Amino acid sequence: MTTQTIPTVTLNNESTIPQLGFGTLNVPPGRDPTPENSAKTAEIVGLALELGFRHIDTAQMYGNERGVGEAIAASGIPREELWVTSKLGNGNHRPDDVRRSFDETLEKLQLDYLDLFLIHWPLPTLYKGDYVSTWKAMTELREDGRLRSVGVSNFQPAHLEQITEATGVVPAVNQIEVHSYFRNDAAREATRRHGIAVEAWSPLGQGHVLDDATIADIAADRDKTAAQVILRWHIQHDHIVFPKSMHRERMKENLAIFGFELTSDEMATIDGLDRGQEGRIGPNPDHFDWIPEQTR
Ligand code: NAD
Repeated sequence: MTTQTIPTVTLNNESTIPQLGFGTLNVPPGRDPTPENSAKTAEIVGLALELGFRHIDTAQMYGNERGVGEAIAASGIPREELWVTSKLGNGNHRPDDVRRSFDETLEKLQLDYLDLFLIHWPLPTLYKGDYVSTWKAMTELREDGRLRSVGVSNFQPAHLEQITEATGVVPAVNQIEVHSYFRNDAAREATRRHGIAVEAWSPLGQGHVLDDATIADIAADRDKTAAQVILRWHIQHDHIVFPKSMHRERMKENLAIFGFELTSDEMATIDGLDRGQEGRIGPNPDHFDWIPEQTR
């Protein structure tokens, strides 16, 4: 597997992002940024880079930016061949904290610039409902070249409407929960209507959709694994994905999704597994208000 085989998606600012990346939530399990945890993150992300992943998705709240930075530094891969995304912690929404924590993110990642920085959650019930000033501060980070693209995560249609109307700046991506049990049509449609790329988080439903009998049938027909079929479904829906795994064989499997194509019937069958709101595995962004202990 070489990086040439991973297609790119062109964002609304003309940047090109690898459509398949590597997710680092719970790499390793536990979010304490201890030296042991950082070393484990560095080992796992280092393996992902060795196998061919060139796009890494991390976040301030994952507690693992230092380990990601160590892996990147040790890899020797030229910076311009990598795409690195991080996300603003829920405790850092005030504009001064946006700027301060962005500096910390770059320092932890040992990078001069970040490819993409996202507001992790809109938190509409916190900060007096003001995610607009957070968004404005995020967009200003691009001015000195240390941030290439800016976006959001878990933004519902109304949240997208509000920030674009208030600032005139359209996010490059919206990273939202999407998998075969939760198509999240309303958020996907609103995202695309604004010309924003869809990033699908928990593309494998954190493993829950892997045992589905319908997926298993398609996988058996195609001589592929369930994970490959689901990831392929995402790719054909033009989602940007970054499945997480701690295991070499699974990482290799997740990279090997570009040599086959699902038929329109197979796509429609998988589309039909959607369970609407019942299929959601993560929190509802309209109500989510968690702030990690260290930034309260
Ligand atoms: P995922 O959907 O990637 O599933 C991960 C699970 O699937 C793990 O248990 C893993 O062992 C298993 N798995 C992976 N590949 C497999 C394979 N080939 N065969 C069998 N099992 C396999 O879950 P995720 O980690 O929640 O989501 C991916 C990434 O999305 C995260 O790591 C993170 O970067 C991002 N994310 C973002 C948000 C957000 O709020 N923006 C929320 C959740 C996740």
